Amino acid sequence: MLLTPTQTRELIADALQHKYAVLAVNADSPASVYDVLEAARQCDAPIMIETSLWQLKGRSFGAGDALLGLSRYHAELNVLANHATFQQVPVVLHTDHIKGPETTAILESAMPRFSSLSLDSSEMTPAENIAAIGKLCASATQRNLPLTLEMEAGVDAGVSPLTDCDTLFGAAEKNNPGYLAWWAPGVGTQHGLGSDGYPTFSAEAVGAHQKRATALAGRPIGIALHGSSGLPVASLQAAVQAGVSKVNWSSESLLLRSQAAQEYFSAHLAQLDKKHKDWKNTAMDNGLQAFVASRYVPKVVDRIKLLGGFCAGTRFLSTLGRS
Ligand SMILES: [Zn+2]
Repeated sequence: MLLTPTQTRELIADALQHKYAVLAVNADSPASVYDVLEAARQCDAPIMIETSLWQLKGRSFGAGDALLGLSRYHAELNVLANHATFQQVPVVLHTDHIKGPETTAILESAMPRFSSLSLDSSEMTPAENIAAIGKLCASATQRNLPLTLEMEAGVDAGVSPLTDCDTLFGAAEKNNPGYLAWWAPGVGTQHGLGSDGYPTFSAEAVGAHQKRATALAGRPIGIALHGSSGLPVASLQAAVQAGVSKVNWSSESLLLRSQAAQEYFSAHLAQLDKKHKDWKNTAMDNGLQAFVASRYVPKVVDRIKLLGGFCAGTRFLSTLGRS
C-alpha cells in the first residue's frame, strides 16, 4: 500500500526502533518500478521508490515535461502499490534529486500525492537550502497538507561537521517545526560507483548526526544515506546500526539493469532476424523486461536483506496508526 506522509513518519520510527533501513530505489522505468515492488513483496519488506528530475523528464514518464512526469510516476505507483498483489507491501513514494528553477513548482505539485519529499541542494548555498525547505513547509501549512521532508547537505563533500546539523537542519526545524523526518549529511560516501570502498566513510558520523538531529527536533529523525552503491556490505550494515533508516540506491541498480539488457540482446541476436520463428517474441518489450527482471529482482532481494528489512513489512502494517 502507498503510505501517506503521516504513515511514512511511522515507518521511519519503526526502522530506527528495529534497526533496519528501508531500501530507496531510484527507479527509472515502469518495469523497474514493478521489479522493485516484486522484490519487496518477496521479502515482506517496506520499500521506497524515488524519482529524480531526470526520470520525471525522461521518455518513460514526462518526455521533457516534469509535471506530466510527476503525474505519470504517481499514477503508476498508486495503481500498483494499492493493487491486491502489493497491498501488504508498505511503499513510500519519494522525490529524490530535484534541482533547478522548477524545483518548488514540482515539489508543491507532488504534495501530498507523494509520501515524502526531498530536493537536491548541491548547487545551493546554506541560506538557499534553508529557504527552499522553508518555502515547502509554508506551502504545506497554508494548504493544510501533511508533509514529510528529507533535508540534505554536502552529501558528496566528505564528512559533514556536526555544526552543519545545527546551522542547516536545526535552522530549518526552528523556522518550521515538525516537517523534517530525515537528515542527509555527508558521511564519506559519494554518488556513483566508487571503486575504493570509501575509506573516509564514518559510521560514527552517522550516529552523531542522528542523535543531534533527533535532539534538535525532539522526535526520531533518520539519516538518509546517499551514494551507497560503492559502499562495502560491512560499512552499510554499520551505517544502519548507527541510525541510517533510508539507503538510496541508483548507480548500481542502473548498471545491473543495463548489463542484463546487454546480455539479453547478445544472447538473442540470432532470434532478431525476420526469418527466425521467435523473432516477434524476442522483439517485444516483454521479452527484454522479463529477462532483466530475472537478473535484477534477486539482486534487489539481496540488498533488502542486507539492510535488515526482511519480514518487517506486515509487522509494520499491523502497528500502523497505533502510535
Ligand atoms: Zn542522492
